[in-house]
Amino acid sequence: MMLSGLRFPVERSQGRRYPEPPHPYRNPFQRDRDRIIHARAFRRLEAKTQVFTPGLSDHFRNRLTHTIEVAQIARTVASALGLDEDLTEALALVHDVGHPPFAHAGEQELDRQMRRFGEHFDHNQHALRIVETFEQRYARFPGLNLTFEVREGIVKHSRDLEPGQLPMFDEYLPELRPPLEAQLIDLADEIAYNSADLDDGFSAGMFQAEDVAGHVPEYGEIFEAAETQFPGASERERFHESLRQLIDALVSGLIEGTVAAARAAGVRDHSEVRAYPKRLVVFTPETGAADRQLKEFLSRFVYSSEALSEERARSSAMMAELFQFFLDHPDALPSAYQRRMAAEPPYRVVCDYIAGMTDVFFHRTYRELLPGSQSSTLA
Ligand code: MG
Repeated sequence: MMLSGLRFPVERSQGRRYPEPPHPYRNPFQRDRDRIIHARAFRRLEAKTQVFTPGLSDHFRNRLTHTIEVAQIARTVASALGLDEDLTEALALVHDVGHPPFAHAGEQELDRQMRRFGEHFDHNQHALRIVETFEQRYARFPGLNLTFEVREGIVKHSRDLEPGQLPMFDEYLPELRPPLEAQLIDLADEIAYNSADLDDGFSAGMFQAEDVAGHVPEYGEIFEAAETQFPGASERERFHESLRQLIDALVSGLIEGTVAAARAAGVRDHSEVRAYPKRLVVFTPETGAADRQLKEFLSRFVYSSEALSEERARSSAMMAELFQFFLDHPDALPSAYQRRMAAEPPYRVVCDYIAGMTDVFFHRTYRELLPGSQSSTLA
């Protein structure tokens, strides 16, 4: 195994906030994975939008199927590199549980609302609050009581912390990088959503295979080779054949880039990985370029398309309305949230309530509480 010397050893885990006796045959990271799968926040992923809302097609990703794709890619990379697959899988499965309804539009709107009160909203921080506090499934402790490494991986999902930047995260070693198992989730996430959004955007008829070939040279080469290799194939078949090979190229590029970076850095074990000033899970220069070109393509042909922009504007408007409605009518909140208002600012309680909603539950609540509103008649 290429980097097995850099694997994070489960026996070196800093453990749980509330000590628990060991399990006879599941190690701590395997138990974390199982706790995440059994959490309510995990099940809610099924009814949360990834990019495309359901309705047009039954085949678009939702946040749960996206999460499974990230876990599959991340485990493949971990296994090829000789890293800890259980820690990797737990982190992949938990990486999106903090997402509010309506994907990025929802996250931006909640953030906008919180900034009115000098606060902010971030889905990684919210995920930590979910696993630390909001999930109540165990009699002996609040939350899921996950290991330090899984909580650290949540906090450092897509960026490193600066010491003192966010005092509530000071316990998560802000001066250090996370282990390789945690570093790879962010890029496995990118491979998964870039290729999935390409797939779903193609199914939605937003562009032709030739458009991708014209903007992403790596894809263009694969697509041309597929034309020679499968002369009788339909455009759809060649698109999917090429997409499959593109995912493979990106995953291979991530594995290769990481091996090269780790060797160049000369790190010898997990603690040297942590102490190294930069993240070591990286694409090769060629696949890094393909990854960036894919993002640019998707941003132009998919994310900023008229259909998705209109939907985003409508979702944001509805969320702003519901947020204000709960601030004005706290008695409309479930009793557990009303009780929290005695000790916490109302905007924080309202934000947590809305952030936990699925798209489906949001729409139902909105229709019940704000019937006849402008945005509701458009929805
Ligand atoms: Mg994701």
